[in-house]
Amino acid sequence: PQPVRRHMDRLAAEGIDVVRVTYPDLIGTDRARDVLLDHLPSACDHGLAFCRAVYHTSPQGDVVPVPGGLDAGLPDICVRPDLDTLVPLPWEPGVAACLGDVTDPATGLPAPESPRDLLRAVLDRCTEHGLRPVVGPELEYFLCEPDPAGGWRRYSEASGVVYTAGLRADPDNHVLRMLRLLRDLNVGVISGNHEFDGGQFEINLTHSDAMDAADRAFRFKSAIKELARKEGRLATFMAKPFNDAGGSGFHLHLSCDNDEGHNVFDDPSAPHGLSATARHAAAGILAHAPALAALANPTVNSYKRFGPDTLAPWLIDWGLDNRSAMVRIPPERGSGARLELRLGDAGANPYLLIAGTVAAALLGVQAGEEPPAPLEGYGYDTAKSATLPTSLSAALDALEADTALADVLGKDFTTSYLAYKRDEVARFQRHVTDWEFTEYAYHL
Ligand code: GLU
Ligand code: MG
Ligand code: MG
Repeated sequence: PQPVRRHMDRLAAEGIDVVRVTYPDLIGTDRARDVLLDHLPSACDHGLAFCRAVYHTSPQGDVVPVPGGLDAGLPDICVRPDLDTLVPLPWEPGVAACLGDVTDPATGLPAPESPRDLLRAVLDRCTEHGLRPVVGPELEYFLCEPDPAGGWRRYSEASGVVYTAGLRADPDNHVLRMLRLLRDLNVGVISGNHEFDGGQFEINLTHSDAMDAADRAFRFKSAIKELARKEGRLATFMAKPFNDAGGSGFHLHLSCDNDEGHNVFDDPSAPHGLSATARHAAAGILAHAPALAALANPTVNSYKRFGPDTLAPWLIDWGLDNRSAMVRIPPERGSGARLELRLGDAGANPYLLIAGTVAAALLGVQAGEEPPAPLEGYGYDTAKSATLPTSLSAALDALEADTALADVLGKDFTTSYLAYKRDEVARFQRHVTDWEFTEYAYHL
């Protein structure tokens, strides 16, 4: 039988009658369509047609003018299920989920905005150099519940409960439920705990090759949001949702295997036990950090997470087992030798964060770039290093100016991304916030 027939027979035997085909848009939202199982062969042969506006529509529903979108009459994109990613949804009986690959019907090529294809292209460049990036994603988020006074409030107000598990900070065992349900989604969940602030959690995912890790992080975020919704709650990965709490990070652990599966970041004979390749990769990430922030910190809200003494970075620096640095080198060596990039916030699109990080690291390796001396001690001292961009607008300018990085990411992608995100900045710029009213209305 055809491969799709084999999958259908297996799914039908498992009681599945619907396949949810999901793919990420530019901001990492899970766009999807539910397809009756009988129609899966047609979806595989012809693809599912979506309007290209999925890439150009703001969360508030406005279609943003981006080249090849509105100006071209909002043409189609075509999404084909990637059957290797099929997995039953543990919380939705009868439904299996699967990721989709996006093509532009006019060219038959990947759509330039497709985040999964962008990452694939960056990883192909690594393969040409005999490098296989390995990524471990670490995501934090806030869980909220309806506030009787309106809106949402944090699920738990417990304070001083960082790195705890159990009922005192998690009164109805949210973490236990997520761990058990997500185990069956095959996203590589390892462990979970309460984070620094009330209602904030972290769930750790295992490491694997970069595309698989991005797929897992993407599916993890969707699953947490779906499951929260099922319980009448809101899970948010936005960078800094509350004024009286810290932000949520998306730390990335990055190592790199060669064709023999050996971690090329490890070198017991080199300073700090880190290979020249690891140093060059760190140097590349530091050199391209302002542009990388446009992908790792993609919202106007992202820049409110940065600041002194936050455990989020503020300066462009690296350090040996130093959590105040932007790039931390965890103490393990051997197969565990790796960089932890602490720059990204949880709101980042996993594909773009990983593609940007790997691209910056690869540029450093290709150029044989050397990092400055690692940070010693306190990392929030501006005398020690340059600061990160302080706004999305500044990060977008840095991305536009960083032609080397933009070249690896592709001109078409960068153009669309910049147009989409500049529109976001402009909309925010025009919006009057509560803060402005409080600050000015009574006194001016
Ligand atoms: N919440 C911090 C961040 O935004 C990280 C805290 C931690 O190291 O767990 O990056
Ligand atoms: Mg954490
Ligand atoms: Mg971490």
